[in-house]
Amino acid sequence: MQEQIEAMYEMGESCRGISKVLDMNRRCVSNRLKAAGITIRPLYKQRKPHRYFNGKKYRKRKADGYWYSTTVPETYLHVDMWEYSVGPVPDKWHVHHENHNKNLNMVCNLKAMPRDKHGKHHHYKTRGD
Ligand SMILES: [Zn+2]
Repeated sequence: MQEQIEAMYEMGESCRGISKVLDMNRRCVSNRLKAAGITIRPLYKQRKPHRYFNGKKYRKRKADGYWYSTTVPETYLHVDMWEYSVGPVPDKWHVHHENHNKNLNMVCNLKAMPRDKHGKHHHYKTRGD
C-alpha cells in the first residue's frame, strides 16, 4: 500500500486522486507521504491535467497540445471520441479540430478528412490540429 501511494504520487497523481483510487482518507494519504519524507506539492501542482473518456485516461502533451491516452497503444482523445461516436477513421485520414482548439474534443468540433486535404487546410504549417 505504502509503495503504491508513493509511486502514484511520483507519477503526478494528487493525494485526493490517490485516496479515491485506494478508497482511503485523503488526509491519511498525505500523512503517509509525509511520514516517508516526501514533500507534499503545493495545491496548484497537485494534479497534472487529465481527462477520462470511455474508461481511458488522457493527458495533454505540452509539446503539441494534443490529448493522448496514458495506456499503450497511445491514442489521441479526439480520434477516440470520433471513432466512438461516428466510426473508424479511414486509413490516411485525419480528424481535424474545426475551431482549431485541441482542448475541445467533442464530435461537433471534429471533422474527419483526408490527410492531404487536412494538410492544405493548415497550409502545411503544422502537422495539423
Ligand atoms: Zn486540423
